[in-house]
Amino acid sequence: MLMMRSTIASLLAVLAMSSSVYAQSCAGSPVSVQILGSNGPGFNRDRVSAGYLLWTGSQAKMIVDMGGGTHARYSQAGAKFTDLSLMAISHLHPDHTSDLPALMWAGRQSRNDVLPIVGPSGNEGVPSISVFLRRLFDPKEGAFQVLGATMQPASVNTGVVHLEPTAVDVTRTEPTKVFDKDGMVVTALGIPHGNIPALAYRVQTNGVSVVFSTDQTGTNPKFIDFATGANVLVMHMATDMGNSPTHASPAVVGRVAQSAGVGRLVVSHLGQFDLNAAVAELKKSYTGPLTIGADLQCTPVQ
Ligand SMILES: [Zn+2]
Ligand SMILES: [Zn+2]
Repeated sequence: MLMMRSTIASLLAVLAMSSSVYAQSCAGSPVSVQILGSNGPGFNRDRVSAGYLLWTGSQAKMIVDMGGGTHARYSQAGAKFTDLSLMAISHLHPDHTSDLPALMWAGRQSRNDVLPIVGPSGNEGVPSISVFLRRLFDPKEGAFQVLGATMQPASVNTGVVHLEPTAVDVTRTEPTKVFDKDGMVVTALGIPHGNIPALAYRVQTNGVSVVFSTDQTGTNPKFIDFATGANVLVMHMATDMGNSPTHASPAVVGRVAQSAGVGRLVVSHLGQFDLNAAVAELKKSYTGPLTIGADLQCTPVQ
């Protein structure tokens, strides 16, 4: 009787989980994008904070952002830390970065080589990615001294993954190449997100391209050029308001995607508002294929 009750309880738990989060395998296409977290910073029972995987074949090669909850989603996605070639951080808001230490702590169990990490330059109110990493992992003064070897040279095998940071100048008006290896080229461009330095990333691989636009107002005309012709553009629909100083309205999200002539728009980082109304607003300015993001959702890039 007791056993039957626990079986029923675990069945119910599985059902409850599958109703909110549906894991799709992303390993079957030449290139695909998987959403780890489709939420922004707010509390949400169905969505965790921002994070994405770029898969080529059966390998998740690049992670873009690591907001709260993405550490758990990473293993649910079936990604292997040993396959990762690049970590990319769009900006230093906690909903995009807070699971980085958790990933590094877990990752040391499977690899201890060098892993490039790219992120934005700083300003008077926000550290650069390099300073941010030092503050986290400095062996003497970092918050996580247990990961103190993370920023040390890789010449000594210390049993952790060595992060090799590159800070991209967000004020540059032209894209900066940040990665070019094994047939994958990644460029970055500064985008407006209030006074927080922020970067969009464009990945070119296997003859297709994906742009991760992150939080932004959508008001940098250079971003349209940057995203032009992308097979998939991931944009954040964080607000349904008309004039936020940090986020694009649904109408602007649609207008940017339409102007860039992308193959498919994926909206993610969804705020707590009437999603149907926001999508209706977006569709007034965007007429192409549209995907409403969900955690662990996989989009083949073609
Ligand atoms: Zn955000
Ligand atoms: Zn943000």
